[in-house]
Amino acid sequence: MSNNLRESDQQVFEILSAERKRQQESTELIASENFVSPMVLQAQGSILTNKYAEGYPHHRYYGGCENVDDVENLAKERLKQLFNVKYVNVQPYSGSIANCAAIRSLINHGDKLLGMSINAGGHLTHGYSLSFSGKDYEAYGYDVNPKTYRLDYEEVRQLALKIKPKLIICGASAYSREIDFKKFKEIADEVDSYLIADIAHIAGLVATGYHNSPIEYCDIITSTTHKTLRGPRGGIIMTNDEELAKKIDKNVFPGLQGGPLEHVIAAKAVAFKEDLSPEFKTYIGQVVKNAKAMADEFISMNYEVLTGGTDNHLFLIDILRSKGITGMEAQKLLESINITANRNSIPFDTQKPYISSGIRIGTPAMTTRGYKEKEFITIAHYIDDAINHKDDLKYLSSLKEQVIELNKHFPLPY
Ligand SMILES: *Cc1c(COP(=O)(O)O)cnc(C)c1O
Repeated sequence: MSNNLRESDQQVFEILSAERKRQQESTELIASENFVSPMVLQAQGSILTNKYAEGYPHHRYYGGCENVDDVENLAKERLKQLFNVKYVNVQPYSGSIANCAAIRSLINHGDKLLGMSINAGGHLTHGYSLSFSGKDYEAYGYDVNPKTYRLDYEEVRQLALKIKPKLIICGASAYSREIDFKKFKEIADEVDSYLIADIAHIAGLVATGYHNSPIEYCDIITSTTHKTLRGPRGGIIMTNDEELAKKIDKNVFPGLQGGPLEHVIAAKAVAFKEDLSPEFKTYIGQVVKNAKAMADEFISMNYEVLTGGTDNHLFLIDILRSKGITGMEAQKLLESINITANRNSIPFDTQKPYISSGIRIGTPAMTTRGYKEKEFITIAHYIDDAINHKDDLKYLSSLKEQVIELNKHFPLPY
């Protein structure tokens, strides 16, 4: 057997090469994606993938865990520092599993939970009917205000007073405005409910002070590590409550998971160190500036940007109302000119989720590649040009060449 993938497994090698080319030549606007550093990639691609380590540092069910104990403890210490929090669990394989463990640590099967509805921008795991969160619990959803498309805390409060949930979940996947965690805490206190903040999308902004922090207001905070934190794919759970921390640990292992992915945990440690650096704060500042600049550009071209702009790293466009094409059509059209974005339901959408009326646009990934306001504004115009010439294949192919040309100046670091 060869040590070289190119020689030993040409099929997989070619797929990886094709993906590298796609990533290099495309403009990545999916709000939940990012490009990790070569160091994160190196840690994740390391020999730690060989190691079984069920349990937690110094309480493992396998021998030979001294090194993975060190790396997991390092990841935990760095994460505590990053969010100024007392107890953390870095083992969740994903954000969804982190949410499952967090919810199970607070309420029982059949209890009532209230999360942001998926149409309003919430996540599947916040109570969607086909998710564990909608099946195992009596789940209710709050929406955004139908006029402003913003969270209306008085409406959330009224709903909470009516439903009397045992748990409220705040946090979103497609919401462009700052979330007021203090207000959620007041509502949770008034109805005597637990509160989880899921900061999967905005974690990088929270860590650097570009978004208010939920840490002092919530029983549990969950996040992914691969979105604005720019780490490997995975989840994390945080709390300041010692008893709750013990429950969380048990619900992650053995409740939901077996052996932790120590290579991923090593990569999380590397990412958290990067996240603590002044350069990362500058990066997040640029992400936010870029999102504002691009959203403003779309508004100036008469696009319906929901809520009229953004406070964070993403925004949503009602593309059906703006240009008469569905989210599905827009996504395909953009893909044809090497711009990757995702269609997204908008609040009170008239289209099925699979088709949808909106597109969601985020700036974290291309800001990592070095895009500034100027490039995002250029891309906004390419998008507009593509929509205005959507049946002109020759025009679209020249736009695609321009995107590829632009991205030559912003190479992948690997
Ligand atoms: C992305 C996301 C998750 C889940 O992350 P996965 O790692 O894909 O399971 C959870 N909550 C929110 C709000 C998210 O946006």
